[in-house]
Amino acid sequence: MSSLASCIFCKIIKGEIPCFKLIETETVLAFMDIGPIAKGHCLVIPKYHAAKLADLPEDQMGDILPALTKIAKASGYEDYNILQNNGRPAHQEVDHVHFHYIPKPAGAGDKAGLVVGWPIQGLSKEDIQKAYDELKGKL
Ligand code: 5GP
Ligand code: ZN
Repeated sequence: MSSLASCIFCKIIKGEIPCFKLIETETVLAFMDIGPIAKGHCLVIPKYHAAKLADLPEDQMGDILPALTKIAKASGYEDYNILQNNGRPAHQEVDHVHFHYIPKPAGAGDKAGLVVGWPIQGLSKEDIQKAYDELKGKL
């Protein structure tokens, strides 16, 4: 896990590394992704340094969805994904919370935009009930 001092996104927030800035509020920054998987791929990040979503204080989250929605409307793509990865096995490379806005260009198929695996587990109703009971009990 990168600390605040070495975090690449904290450096972008501080202006130590340049970015193509789209939106800035008191708590949020949006900018173009440097390794896009589709034209228009960009990132929305909280200015608060937290590695994973569950580490981010709720009072730092308020501007994230409005920024993503603004970008989705402005980009003009009919189809797109919002992606937020947490942990290496879950494809997180930068340990500062970030939300991807990823256009899915018409007809791109697997050539551009997000390509998703969806390994349905075939769990029974009882298995789902058990998972529900465990989670609901902790909320
Ligand atoms: P993750 O896999 O962690 O969800 O995605 C990290 C994203 O950050 C990648 O899409 C990558 O291209 C982007 N990225 C990594 N370093 C930089 C950088 O220095 N500047 C910008 N604009 N994007 C970056
Ligand atoms: Zn950071």
